Amino acid sequence: MRDIAHFVNGQAFNGASGRYGDVFNPNTGEVQARVQFATDGEIDAAVQAAAKAQVGWGAVNPQRRARVMFEFKRLIERDMNSLAEILSSEHGKVIADSKGDIQRGLEVIEFACGIPHILKGEYTEGAGPGIDVYSMRQPLGVCAGITPFNFPAMIPMWMFGIAIAVGNTFILKPSEKDPTVPVKLAELMMEAGAPEGVLNVIHGDKSAVDAILTHPLIRAVSFVGSSDIAHYVYQTGTAHGKRVQAMGGAKNHGIVLPDADLDQVVKDLSGAAFGSAGERCMALPVVVPVGKKTADELRERLVAEIDTLKVGVSTDTAAHYGPVVSAQHRAKIADYIQIGVDEGAELVVDGRDFHLQGFEKGFFIGPSLFDGVKKGMKTYQEEIFGPVLQMARAESFEEAIALPSEHQYGNGVAIFTRNGRAAREFAARVNVGMVGINVPIPVPVAYHTFGGWKRSAFGDTNQHGVEGVKFYTKVKTVTARWPEGDVEDSAFVIPTMK
Ligand code: NAD
Repeated sequence: MRDIAHFVNGQAFNGASGRYGDVFNPNTGEVQARVQFATDGEIDAAVQAAAKAQVGWGAVNPQRRARVMFEFKRLIERDMNSLAEILSSEHGKVIADSKGDIQRGLEVIEFACGIPHILKGEYTEGAGPGIDVYSMRQPLGVCAGITPFNFPAMIPMWMFGIAIAVGNTFILKPSEKDPTVPVKLAELMMEAGAPEGVLNVIHGDKSAVDAILTHPLIRAVSFVGSSDIAHYVYQTGTAHGKRVQAMGGAKNHGIVLPDADLDQVVKDLSGAAFGSAGERCMALPVVVPVGKKTADELRERLVAEIDTLKVGVSTDTAAHYGPVVSAQHRAKIADYIQIGVDEGAELVVDGRDFHLQGFEKGFFIGPSLFDGVKKGMKTYQEEIFGPVLQMARAESFEEAIALPSEHQYGNGVAIFTRNGRAAREFAARVNVGMVGINVPIPVPVAYHTFGGWKRSAFGDTNQHGVEGVKFYTKVKTVTARWPEGDVEDSAFVIPTMK
């Protein structure tokens, strides 16, 4: 059995805890490797290595740090195919989605390549007589990231890409379900020229997370995962004096106004609800058609579209999506579908009986569609995180805008319409952090910033973009006065080139 080790101080590090997590191949349902879980002492050793490395790395000039980022980008592009294959084999998403996962992370690295420009501070000349004021952004020290299974490349890069570029060193605790790509990223960061100890990966479960949250040398923690754990991470980390940003779960709605282009909506919904088996925090699992005519027509077209979807192994280039991440997650999705039926929603398409020939033990589940979903239902209130699309009909624009606005989650939302005024009003009023207008998955580009509202994010600062730079730096402001007469006149002689 292959063992997945930690990566500390520039090399693989075999822990001695004797605790492991199983890493499955979701296509076959078999355990393909086991990942070591770190002890508190091993985590402390990694943090000490990172703290030692930070002294030198923080003093490297920003342009040199940017050069490491440029080289890191080149190396990832070199290894794109093999990284995507590994990612796909542990997560279950199809190869094209795996490449997308890596590519979206790379875009944050591209943003980080511009760090010399972004780190330029502010300057006021003559704030008082002979007084100038300037500010600078300095690194925090050692920062940590705790990441979910569903984007094992992109989300780590959201975090360490910025953290390292601004001069911090980093401890990454990736999901124990698909830990190989995060280790590969750390190896590539070393190959790109980052000194030892700049990017470390330690594996584990709650116990590793707790060791990070309470470690006195870790200054900031970025978390992405489910909401209850995000809340716990936020509370525990801040109680231990750390800066924390903790992104949580989601239940994104797609509002369809009667004037929308339904052909486009059906295509968009199919990708956004079922792509990556619905295991995306920016998936669109709730569709809200406005008016009976829109709803009836949309339902008919969705049923036809779902019929064309191909579920297959993650290496099947014709498959729309692959297996979900684990047997437990598959069972949880199936349970939610049953709860939906029991609480009175109409199950129009039932994906539970899907089996892939030759891969009977794989974690596959077919696409499902519900109609008649109501606000009070448990399956509407909670995140299912699977290939299940729920139709919640609305009578009016006001009712449609109220649904996502009043929901406990507020990550993303989309509106489909040809009416610019309606879209503008929707974007301004809806109580959700990221809005798409005829864009089903409105994940902002890397130089903007990613973050939801309500129970989708705890803390004030978003991921990547300038907000990410703010999260991983602290501001120092200098007020300087140089009185006349304190220096010899000769000090003002301007040197000339000989
Ligand atoms: P998860 O919450 O189970 O795990 C996330 C991380 O927390 C992992 O590293 C895991 O090891 C750790 N963890 C697990 N149990 C813990 C505990 N009891 N205490 C402390 N840490 C613990 O999430 P997941 O299943 O890996 O990922 C899916 C979830 O992540 C979904 O809810 C999804 O919406 C969310 N997500 C959110 C965003 C966003 O930006 N808002 C992005 C991607 C995924």
